[in-house]
Amino acid sequence: MLATKPKSFAKKLHHVQRNTEHHWVGNGFPVRSLVSYPKLGALISPFLLFDYAGPMEFPPTDKRLGVGEHPHRGFETVTIVYSGEVEHRDSSGGGGKIGPGDVQWMTAASGIVHDEFHGRDFAQQGGLFEMVQLWVNLPAKNKMSPAHYQNILDSQIPVVQLPEDQGSARIIAGELDGLVGPAKTYTPMHIWDLRLASEQLIHLPVPDGYNTLLAVLKGSVQIDGVETVGAAEIAIFEQTGDHICIDHAKNATVLLLCGEPIVEPIVGSGPFVMNTQAEINQAKADYTSGKMGHLV
Ligand code: MN
Repeated sequence: MLATKPKSFAKKLHHVQRNTEHHWVGNGFPVRSLVSYPKLGALISPFLLFDYAGPMEFPPTDKRLGVGEHPHRGFETVTIVYSGEVEHRDSSGGGGKIGPGDVQWMTAASGIVHDEFHGRDFAQQGGLFEMVQLWVNLPAKNKMSPAHYQNILDSQIPVVQLPEDQGSARIIAGELDGLVGPAKTYTPMHIWDLRLASEQLIHLPVPDGYNTLLAVLKGSVQIDGVETVGAAEIAIFEQTGDHICIDHAKNATVLLLCGEPIVEPIVGSGPFVMNTQAEINQAKADYTSGKMGHLV
């Protein structure tokens, strides 16, 4: 059973991040960047970026909706589909189509070129599109490791039932209550896709010293007795404490991101996130000269 009582004390809420500005990534992804490293780097490390695409209805089309060939270096992109389909190809030979509940975990590391589109069948039918893309940083020692790709299907993701009918947690990475998620990560982290509905206090165990973000996609949760966190808002917690408390939750779909901070300089430019400006310049040169590969 999960511990239902705190072992020591709860992480305090640092603040709630709210961003209503949309931008389009290509012609397929209407994105709100809910948190990003230029402003919040140390508070959210090892996470760099949380892009929430949709939810948005797309009419049927024969067009390819998405973003064409582009590079990444120095981190991982993690795409979690809630509604619709995403197709992807990359220069390491990875790729495929994922649908609701599935996850693409792409380790760009030393460099990759990929494209990202709505699935062809989904585009032709039209419908509700909703996905999250996280950028997860790599420690300096792994930034130039070989690129690779993990395709994680919904059926591979274990589900933990929370006590007292408070809801459930899909364990994408890390573990909860002895169930281990399928994603292989370079630094310790937990990524749980939660469905919460409870009038009672919910305790979630997360390690002391880790950064913790609670991203609400649907519904709402209340924290610290006063802060209501609603759709497309992220609660960011302080590092100290070995669990978080949610006062109550209303039909909430929530992603919990929690990880050991990577305490290293972050220097980024567009699709590259490294430790120094010289490494960024090198990344641009390597992409331009074709060293990150091409799609075939
Ligand atoms: Mn990309």
